[in-house]
Amino acid sequence: MILKSTPQLFLKRCGGLYFLVFVLTGCSQELLVKETRVLMDTYAEISCYSSDRNNAINAIDAAFKETKRIEKVFSKFDEDSEVSKINRLAGLEKVNANEEVLSLIERSIYYSKISDGAFDITVAPLMEIWGFVRKHQSIPDRGAIENTLKSVGYHNIELNLGELSIRFLNRGAKIDLGGIAKGYAADRAKDILVSHGIKNGLVNLGGNIYALGKASGGRSWNIGVQDPRNKGKLLKSFELTNKAISTSGNYERFFEIGGKRYSHIINPVSGEPCQGIISVTVAADSAEEADALSTVIFVLGEEKGINLAKSIKDIEVLILTEEGEIIAYP
Ligand code: ADP
Ligand code: MG
Repeated sequence: MILKSTPQLFLKRCGGLYFLVFVLTGCSQELLVKETRVLMDTYAEISCYSSDRNNAINAIDAAFKETKRIEKVFSKFDEDSEVSKINRLAGLEKVNANEEVLSLIERSIYYSKISDGAFDITVAPLMEIWGFVRKHQSIPDRGAIENTLKSVGYHNIELNLGELSIRFLNRGAKIDLGGIAKGYAADRAKDILVSHGIKNGLVNLGGNIYALGKASGGRSWNIGVQDPRNKGKLLKSFELTNKAISTSGNYERFFEIGGKRYSHIINPVSGEPCQGIISVTVAADSAEEADALSTVIFVLGEEKGINLAKSIKDIEVLILTEEGEIIAYP
C-alpha cells in the first residue's frame, strides 16, 4: 500500500529519526512528523500533523511503545508472552490470562462464527507444520495434515471472560492471532495519538492502516492499493477519514516450491494454504475489523467473500484474483 497526496513544502531530517515536513492544513501551518520502526515482524510507520512539534514526537513515541507492549502480549515467538503461556498450558488445564488477550480471542471467535469457520485462530499447529513459524517452509504430507487437523477448530476454545480463563478441549490445540493482532494494535496506537490531542495522523502497521482525521490541505487520506503484479500501478485508491484499511495478500509472506506459491493464510478445513486470490483489501471502521475481514475474505474466496461483505455494514472490499480479475464491493 502506498500513500499519496502529501504536498511537501520542505523536508528535513531531525535527529536521524523523525521526518518533519511543514504543510498547510486548512488555514494554519502544521508540521508532519513521521517515524518508522520495525515492530510486530513488520514495518510500522506513524505520522501525524500538529502545530506542536514536541507533542507530536511524544505522541508518536507513546504510540510505538503501546504497539511494542501489544507485541509482547501477543507474540508467538516470545516464550513469555501471554499467548505463548496459553499455548503451553491451556491444552492441559484451565489457565488464567489477561482480559486484553481473552477479549481479542473472543472477538476472533466472532469472526469464525460469521465466516463459517474460515477465520480460525486455532490454525496455529497448521502454521507450524507448513513451516511458517520457524520459516523453514516445506510441504507436509497429507497424513501429517490430517493428523494436525484433529486439533484445529475454534469450537475447541472454552473461554470464560467472567473468571478470565481459557481452556482448550483438545490437548494439541494452539492459537495464532496473526490474522487480527496487527489491526488491533493499529487501533490502540491511534487511540494513543488521540489521547495526546492529535487530530490528524496515520498509523500503518505493515499494511494495517488507521487514517485519523484528515491529511494535508484538509483532504481525506488517500490510500492507494498497489498492484502486486506491477508495483508502479495502483489497483484502486481509497479516500479515508477516521477509517481503517488492511490488505491480506499472498505476495509478501509466502514460499514457493516447484513454481507453486504457498500463502501464509491457511484454510482451516483443508489444512492447506489458500489459493485463488492474490490480495484482499478491506476498508472498515476499525483496523481490527479490516484486518480480520481481509483474512476472512482471502480464505472464503471471491464469491462467498463478497456475499459475506454484503451482510456487513460500512465496509469496502477490493479483491485481486490469481486470474487477474479485480472485484470491488460496493
Ligand atoms: P499479515 O500477517 O501479512 O498482515 P493477515 O492479516 O492476512 O496477513 O494474516 C495472516 C496471518 O493470520 C497468518 O500469518 C497467521 O498468523 C494467521 N492465519 C492464517 N490462516 C488463518 C485463518 N484461516 N484464520 C485466522 N488466522 C489465520
Ligand atoms: Mg488479517
